[in-house]
Amino acid sequence: MTRLAPSPTGALHLGHARTFLITWWMARQAGAKIVMRMEDLDLGRRKVESVEQAYADLKWLGMDWDGGSGQGSEDGSQKEVVQSERLEIYAGALQTMWERGLVYPCTCTRADILANVAGSASAPHEAEGQVRYPGTCAGTVWDAAMRAQAVAEVAEHIRWATGKNVCWRLRVRGGVVGFEDRIAGAWGFDVEREAGDFPLTRFDGTPAYQLACVVDDHEMGIDCVIRGDDLLSSTARQLLIYEALGFAPPTFAHVPLVIGADGKRLAKRHGESRIAQFREQGVRAERIVGWAAWRSGMIGELREMTTAEALGLWDLRQLPRARIVLGQDDMGWLTIY
Ligand code: GLU
Ligand code: ZN
Repeated sequence: MTRLAPSPTGALHLGHARTFLITWWMARQAGAKIVMRMEDLDLGRRKVESVEQAYADLKWLGMDWDGGSGQGSEDGSQKEVVQSERLEIYAGALQTMWERGLVYPCTCTRADILANVAGSASAPHEAEGQVRYPGTCAGTVWDAAMRAQAVAEVAEHIRWATGKNVCWRLRVRGGVVGFEDRIAGAWGFDVEREAGDFPLTRFDGTPAYQLACVVDDHEMGIDCVIRGDDLLSSTARQLLIYEALGFAPPTFAHVPLVIGADGKRLAKRHGESRIAQFREQGVRAERIVGWAAWRSGMIGELREMTTAEALGLWDLRQLPRARIVLGQDDMGWLTIY
């Protein structure tokens, strides 16, 4: 079983479409179930209409998904798993880790962390604006009363997103966390050295992506996670959460992203690439599917096809192992003059 896990923070673009189609082809060819999970925990950026838009975009492209036992709503009227409806489940997992001594509350702001890092002897590892957390709050001694209060607050904290200025961090072990990816091959990250004890919740009390993703993938019975290769380093962090919770991890398949000519992730500045926009302009879904199939090594020349038709052509061995740079060939095919 695998999942489609869009975030409703904006419209889905061509890169998402390709990754989701690959997920769908891989799963359906293997006869596996596909579950839809809406990752709407970024409460500030969540837009209600973006949730519906994401479902609509994927359906328009010809994808479907299955309901699962215990998934979606109890009466079966909704088969999608919606993260914002599951805050208590994440709180429970956090509480388990707290009781095992594997997480701790941290009150450091970003400014605190930067000041601490600057004052310490070890050089900070800074990648993409991320600063390694130096473990400032790791050694806080908790007396019995404080501990009892913290235990009581973990659940409430997440459930109500009370906005307390505390985040919870995982105590990260040193050494490389390695894994064998079904597409990207052997990967390893030293999470302790690169990120340090990373947060499992945000300051607003909501679960961080890493925590919710692991808890859900486990709970939902996902045995193969298929997603964009921008999440390779997240996988190492997530494996540490699997360890902390005593869950067996799934296998992973990270699909090389579609990027702009500047090597960056697709964004507005690269021109229009939103699925909804193509649809509004009258571009047929079959055109986008054909493009995704072509860019996934399934056909040698661009042609239109349905998602179901493309299914028979899917072959993981043909998938390009490098990122796809969106260029004139792509946009020419997808533009209506
Ligand atoms: N919601 C994430 C995204 O849209 C995907 C996370 C995942 O597949 O684990 O990038
Ligand atoms: Zn701290």
